[in-house]
Amino acid sequence: MSASLLYHTNQITDVQVKNVEYFHEIIVFHVLYEPSKAPCPCCGWNESTSKGVKRRKLRMAPLGNKAAFLLVEIHRLKCVNCSFIWWPTLPFARIKKRHTVSFELYVIELMRFATIEHVAKFLGVSWSLVKKIHKVYLQREYKDPDLKSIQYLGVDEFSISKGHEYMTIFINLETGEIIHAVEGKSIESVTPFILQLKEKAIQLKAIAMDMNAAYASATKKHLTNVDVVFDRFHIVALLNTAIDEIRRDQQAKCNAVGLKAIKGMRFLLLSNYEKLNPKKQSSLACLLEVNKPIALAHAMKEQIRLFWTKPSVKEGAQFLCWWIMDAVESGIRELEKTGRTLLRHGNDILNYFKHRITNGKTEGINNKIKTMKRQAYGFRDIDYFKLRLYSLHKTGYSFAR
Ligand SMILES: [Zn+2]
Repeated sequence: MSASLLYHTNQITDVQVKNVEYFHEIIVFHVLYEPSKAPCPCCGWNESTSKGVKRRKLRMAPLGNKAAFLLVEIHRLKCVNCSFIWWPTLPFARIKKRHTVSFELYVIELMRFATIEHVAKFLGVSWSLVKKIHKVYLQREYKDPDLKSIQYLGVDEFSISKGHEYMTIFINLETGEIIHAVEGKSIESVTPFILQLKEKAIQLKAIAMDMNAAYASATKKHLTNVDVVFDRFHIVALLNTAIDEIRRDQQAKCNAVGLKAIKGMRFLLLSNYEKLNPKKQSSLACLLEVNKPIALAHAMKEQIRLFWTKPSVKEGAQFLCWWIMDAVESGIRELEKTGRTLLRHGNDILNYFKHRITNGKTEGINNKIKTMKRQAYGFRDIDYFKLRLYSLHKTGYSFAR
């Protein structure tokens, strides 16, 4: 009875249960390890005799709310054929570990829902044990990402700390999985992975990215058959930055009436117009009334979004061309600058119509990363942090701290 309980709850096999002790908070199973087959490692003979005994105490997955331990008696064996002496290995625990494989699996499962700190506290074990188990599991799981089937990638960066440290991530746009993370955002930091892609990612068609020159030039240099697609989110973000600069510029120049209209309107200016409620739409209209440069920039930002609705590359190109001409001739410095930037990257922006991919998924991923960054383990172990990024798509990050 107890042996089958051990098997079904903790996958413990080949044991004979001698005794079970129940305490207030723990249960201890005293068992004898009896391997069904223990061929001699030296000659393969199947008969052996006992030559000494030792005990190992192993923590198992809990039973109910009680911590469970296995006290295993293991006999050293001596081959009756060649006299070779050896300790048999347990199928349910790794060498030198003080817990069973089932305990590891339990920790890994809990880590999908909770922080290291919570899991450690819940199980009554140390923080470092939980982290170690999780790290080993992630290393095994993500050591060799499958690059062969990837068609579309997104690349993006985020800041590791408040200083100037950055991390670049590559995302499989079809699955939303982060498949590679590297410190930095320079050509030198991304090139090693780009070279791996060149060798292995035989189906890769395009990479969506922002207008970071490093990513684009590394891609164009090494992945000659892969298109660069400058991403819509980054282009709209570029326009939002321009509007913000114009707003600040105008705010500095404005008279009292204009200033009243402009203050605190940042949010309205940067929102999608149709998402605003009627009251906000009318405050925005007032602001645009008194301030022509802002009005123009805002209209052009709303307009550029139509680019991605065009049915073909031909119509897209025509639209982009007009838009850039309007921007360059607007007489507003920030818009002229944006127009010229888009002109420089025209081909890579138009590549959208060939593949119709966006980095949209990275937004959700960035939110998850922010939550992860707030957690206690921080960035002390950068390899572990990267592994956590690779498993991000499997993590329920509703918990914050
Ligand atoms: Zn032997």
